[in-house]
Formats: sequence, structure tokens, C-alpha cells
Amino acid sequence: MRAIILSIGDELTLGQTVDTNSAWLSQRLAAIGYRPIAHLTVPDDQDAIRQAIEESVGRCDVLLISGGLGPTEDDLTRQALSDFLEQPLELNETALENVTRFFKAMKRDMPERNKIQAMLPHGTEMIENTAGTAPGIYCNYQSGDTKTLCRIFIMPGVPKEMKIMFERSVAPRLSTDAGACTPGACILSKTLHTFGVGESAIAQRLGDLMRRDRNPSVGTTVSNGYVSVRINAYSDTRDRAQRELASTVQLCREALGDLIWGEDDQTLQEVVAQLLVSSRKSVATAESCTGGLLAKMLTDVPGSSAYFGYGWITYSNDAKHAQLDVGLDLLGRHGAVSEPVVSAMASEAIKLSGADCALAISGIAGPEGGSQQKPVGTVCIALAEEDNYAVIHNSARTFLFPGDREMIRDRSAKMALTLLRFHLLDKRLPF
Ligand code: ATP
Ligand code: MG
Repeated sequence: MRAIILSIGDELTLGQTVDTNSAWLSQRLAAIGYRPIAHLTVPDDQDAIRQAIEESVGRCDVLLISGGLGPTEDDLTRQALSDFLEQPLELNETALENVTRFFKAMKRDMPERNKIQAMLPHGTEMIENTAGTAPGIYCNYQSGDTKTLCRIFIMPGVPKEMKIMFERSVAPRLSTDAGACTPGACILSKTLHTFGVGESAIAQRLGDLMRRDRNPSVGTTVSNGYVSVRINAYSDTRDRAQRELASTVQLCREALGDLIWGEDDQTLQEVVAQLLVSSRKSVATAESCTGGLLAKMLTDVPGSSAYFGYGWITYSNDAKHAQLDVGLDLLGRHGAVSEPVVSAMASEAIKLSGADCALAISGIAGPEGGSQQKPVGTVCIALAEEDNYAVIHNSARTFLFPGDREMIRDRSAKMALTLLRFHLLDKRLPF
């Protein structure tokens, strides 16, 4: 089953907005057994849109369009579809209800102009929009010359609305016939995420699994400090692709063990949050160079109050001393970026907060402030745990992170989460 994705918007063709809709839709299509064969982008121009639809319908089984469904002059997708189908726009009562209901829920009056969003080409179907005003449009198109059937789905451009509409209303319709893949057309994928070990070390552990001619294929990508392993299984049928994918995922898991913290859309924050919740432990933070980033990550996850109550940002030596009782002599002797200082910060954070664990970070994020002994990127991280009001574990490590200020701060917070993750798993850090 071939699919074409058509994105509409001046901001896209002018390069002011990156077309994330196509990337997301391609991944989702591949996951349900469709092969995306082209991404097209056209401006908010009725003729250009009509032409793109005309050129696509004979080449694919499904055409997914996003954008240009808004109420303004430059939203021309429905008019373009009406031109292409040679069917007039007419008011669709259900669509009108969808639009008015949205305004009612937001307690706002509906501008007259929004009525256009309830206009659909004759013979087409409305797709409900639960997250915005613009209903989507669905129709089947029988191509005259090739006698092939193309299903056309039009969704809003706003990425959040498009995703909700795709998951609720488009994917279920597509899944029904996805089992019937054309040879080699079913692509199922899984991504495994790691942190803390470089790409080449991951590749070395994966060994032969990364052979270029292997199916399912195994490849690595690096993004935001994470090394991810992407596994793609190509097969004639969905069932076979699923089986082959599962067995290669298992082999990758065996090769990488606990270095893998999660898969697909999971975030490191969510994984650590789940571990904290399942072990019924809480954590406090004491941060210097990360300025609260670690606390931010820990509270990114809804429900974080179950495990997070206190965090300190003690950026200066004075603050470390006044707020976290770090001895001035200790600071003088070892410097603020040292293992004894972060350990002291973590112990005091536990004492003051009553949390089960504490993480403390102090480092040199640069670009100034480095020395021969402690270059920019030197970061000390401590993890302490208490039991019955006594600190029973307090370990600190020094890391050297590459990159600029933003990267160093980001990697520091992620490394702290990683230390906590291994601690909660009761496993030794494998690097
Ligand atoms: P709608 O059909 O929901 O009215 P629209 O195209 O008419 O969509 P716009 O106001 O043009 O609405 O776009 C809404 C927002 O969505 C803008 O911020 C726009 O940049 C963004 N957007 C539109 N298409 C895409 C895309 N393909 N990828 C990423 N962002 C997009
Ligand atoms: Mg637009």
C-alpha cells in the first residue's frame, strides 16, 4: 500500500516552519504497514494544491493532506479539493455542529468567517476534530485512467490537532486493510534508547546485527546525547514483519542490556518517574551549574508530586554554605566542583527534605571558568540515599562532558537521572 503525504502552507515552502507533520505521518504510516513513497509541500495556493492532488491520486492508495483548513483567506485546501473533484462546496450540518461546539466549549462567540470550515465538497465526508475548529475531510477517488482507488484524508495543519485526528479517525480506517501489503511494503520499526555510552561503543556491542544487508536492519542515530538503535523490519505481511522485528529487538536488548532505558516515544524522565513510583521512593535535588534543569526534568512528568517535593539551586558558594550547610573549609579545600562538595550537598538535601534519595550536581558549564585540572565540562554528580533518617549511601562521580554550555548542562542533568535509574534498578553503572 503506497502513501503520499502532502503538506500545505506558505510558511513551509518559505522554510519558516519545519514540516514535522510529514515526518510524523510517515513513521505512523510505516508502523501500520503503509509505504510512504513521497512527501510533497506546496504553498497556500489553490491551483498548486489542486495540481498536487491531481498528480498524486494516480500514484498512491492513500493521500494524506495537512494544512489549509483554517477560516482565513489563505486557507484554500477545501476549495482546491472542490475544484479537483468538480463538486461544489456545501454546508455540512454535522461539521457546523463540530465548529460551533468548539466555540461553545471555549466560551467564545463564533465569528461568521468560521462557517467556511463547515463547507465540504459534495459527496465527501467530515472527519471530527476534537481538538480544534477545523473538521477534516475524507473521500474516495476513483482514478479514470488507471482505475485505481485512492483514499484522500485532509487534516488540520496544527501538529497537535493533526495527530489527534490521525490517531482517532484516520489510522483505524487505514489499519483495516493494512494486512494486505504489497511485496516488501510492510515496514515495522522500533527504536531503543541508550544514554551514557558513545555511538561507536554501542555499534561495537551490536556487532553483526548492524550488517548493511541485514533484514530487519539495525542502525544507530544520535540525538540530544542519546544514542538510539533503530530497527526496521521489511516484509510482505504485517505478521511476518512483526515476528521478525520482535526477534531482532530481543537480540539488540541482549547485546545492550541495561544500557537501554526505553523505547520509541518514551522519555528518560518518564522511565525514571515510573521507577520512583514503583519503588515508592522520593528524590530531592541540589543543583549548581544546571540551575534547576534536573528538577525541571523530574517534574516534566505529570504526577511528579508523588516523588518530588524539594529542590535547591545553590549557584554560589555562599548559597551552598547558607542553604545546604556545605562547610566553607570544604569548599576552600576542594573547590565547588568536587566530589566531597556534591556529596555534602546531597546529604544535606536529604536531611532537609526528608526525601529517600537526593541528587546533587556541580560543574563547569563554561565557556569561562575552566582550568587545566578542571576543564570546561567537568561535572561532579552525587547520589545519596537514606534509611531511617541516616544516610546509608552516598557516592559521587566526576564526568567530563563535551560541547557547549547548553550541552554540558543538559548531559549533566541526564547523567544524574541515569545514576538514579541504575540505583533504583539496584544495578552497577556499566560505564
Ligand atoms: P488548520 O487546517 O488547522 O487551520 P492551517 O494550515 O490552516 O491549519 P495554519 O494557521 O496555517 O493553519 O497553521 C497552524 C500552525 O501549524 C502553524 O504554526 C503552522 O506553522 C503549523 N503547521 C502547519 N503545517 C505544518 C506542518 N506540516 N508541520 C509542522 N507545522 C505545521
Ligand atoms: Mg496553513
